[in-house]
Amino acid sequence: VYDRTPLIAGNWKMHMDHFQAVSLVQKLSWTLADHDHNFDEVQVAVFPPFTDLRSVQTLIMADKLELVYGAQDLSQHDAGAYTGDISGDFLGKLGCSYVLVGHSERRSVHGETDDLINAKVHAALRHELTPILCVGEGLDTRQANHHVSFTLEQLRAGLSGLEAEAVASLVIAYEPVWAIGTGEVAGPADAQEMGEAIRQAIAELFDTETASSTRVLYGGSVKADNVAAMMRQRDIDGVLVGGASLDDEEFANIVRFEH
Ligand code: PEP
Repeated sequence: VYDRTPLIAGNWKMHMDHFQAVSLVQKLSWTLADHDHNFDEVQVAVFPPFTDLRSVQTLIMADKLELVYGAQDLSQHDAGAYTGDISGDFLGKLGCSYVLVGHSERRSVHGETDDLINAKVHAALRHELTPILCVGEGLDTRQANHHVSFTLEQLRAGLSGLEAEAVASLVIAYEPVWAIGTGEVAGPADAQEMGEAIRQAIAELFDTETASSTRVLYGGSVKADNVAAMMRQRDIDGVLVGGASLDDEEFANIVRFEH
């Protein structure tokens, strides 16, 4: 049984070395404790660089923190001669709950294709990591009004070959590329339009029960002052936050969006 517990996820990108990571997780957990944050009501996840994961795991275990964490990418392979790559097996053993797959910066900077991203989704599931499959259109596609068909094409490709049960447990992040790191936020109605389209596409590909279990996040210049409107949208179950997740106060204020 899956419920759509809201998820607030912080993607640190290539920021914060392992010393800074420990300090940020400590400050964040103190601030959330000050706010009496209930992690059963709103789950909070951080996505540090690979080299920070061991330190973050150690801190979270030692201090019994309720924060969860994940990686920003993984290999489609489980082990072997793949210099520089990181396997889902390693991430699972480091206690990761989630892994981002197909972030727009992986697609654009590393040329990741839909086929590769689909292979990474399968790899994550083999190691009991929950993939957060990132989809979303660029500015040209939005201006040509093809954003829904473009994003759903990425979605279908990313979910190819999966069982309904796996899809029910995973997370889709809708991140319009033109809103990432630009200060441009899609309107709450734009986020809802895509959230609904994603859920409908999942219902068509699988079934309505699956579609009502999958969590859909919005990402793109989310801050404490615009998160609440996003969270009020029926088909939006959380947010993926880049820049604003690097500041513990700002991120903690995003987490308490209902205030
Ligand atoms: C992201 O990287 O997933 C993102 C949404 O970044 P930002 O919040 O900085 O736009």
